Amino acid sequence: MACTIMAMYEYDCEFERLNEEIARRSAKKVGIQLPAGMKRLAAEIAENLSKCGVEVIISGNSCYGACDIDENLAAVVDVLFHFGHSPVRTHLNVVFVELRCTIDVKPAVEEALKYLNGSRICITTTVQHVHTLNEVAELLIRSGRHPIIGKVGKKGNEVGGVHAIYDGQVIGCDLRAAMVECDEILFVGSGDFHPTAIAMNVCKRVVSADPFTRRVGVFTPENLIKKRILRVERAMSASSFGIIVSSKSGQFNMQIARNIREKAEKRGIRSFIIMIDDIREEALCNFDLDAFVITACPRLVDTLSVEKPVLSVREFEIVMGERKLDELIPKPNTRAPGNAHAS
Ligand code: SF4
Repeated sequence: MACTIMAMYEYDCEFERLNEEIARRSAKKVGIQLPAGMKRLAAEIAENLSKCGVEVIISGNSCYGACDIDENLAAVVDVLFHFGHSPVRTHLNVVFVELRCTIDVKPAVEEALKYLNGSRICITTTVQHVHTLNEVAELLIRSGRHPIIGKVGKKGNEVGGVHAIYDGQVIGCDLRAAMVECDEILFVGSGDFHPTAIAMNVCKRVVSADPFTRRVGVFTPENLIKKRILRVERAMSASSFGIIVSSKSGQFNMQIARNIREKAEKRGIRSFIIMIDDIREEALCNFDLDAFVITACPRLVDTLSVEKPVLSVREFEIVMGERKLDELIPKPNTRAPGNAHAS
């Protein structure tokens, strides 16, 4: 039976392709998974897919990125449609749906132009708006600026695991598209997650343009980097560490955790490997430990609001004396090997 193909809010849900996938796989059970900000689309997507005569099961679990496939749901359905992220890994029964957004980015970008100080502007965005980058570049040219769209290179040639696949695309753990010679960076998209990561890791002023609210944000690296230095300094007096391992398959780094524990124990620091599925504040705050190291998503250290210091692996190495504190201050316009991932 044919599915109804309809525009879903301002996103392209690619129902025609999903319908073909269902038919090609003779699927009877279909799972759908969306990140938090897009879960509002779940009911309508499920209703549309159900018209194909399939049973639809929605993942209610957290979904932070393309690294975060609901493996349990994938195991009980014929196909899992993972929405909102560009594809990163080959899963036999997982299909990625990028949810390209049809909203007009022009009004937000025109507003953002008022806040840009430099002339060479690197344009970045998420996969939802990546098809609008040429239009954004045109707007910059018309305002007398020089737009730059950062190349991300071939899939997997610089970064392992999760990575951006389109020029100009950034994800929290892959900021290569922003690591170019420029004065400032324009980010087209919603929320603070990406512009904060760029400002802090690329050490540039970032102006964000939210196409939905038309709000403009300005992110400067200095305060963000100061915060990072402060938490590393606080962790230097820690006598116990919780080493956090994510049980999410795309973020599971047990060997890194074991190495960290070995290093800590050599220095007489008590350390414990703690496995968590959904790494949130409440999962950490009850432990009687002085500090934590996160071996999962590198952005968690900047987004969790926990009283005790929460470090990335690189920051932990500074505490152990293996790296210098000034490594936390990125050198502008550099794309050093191994520096492409935010950490
Ligand atoms: S590791 Fe973190 S930043 Fe990277 S894709 Fe996963 S959730 Fe996003």
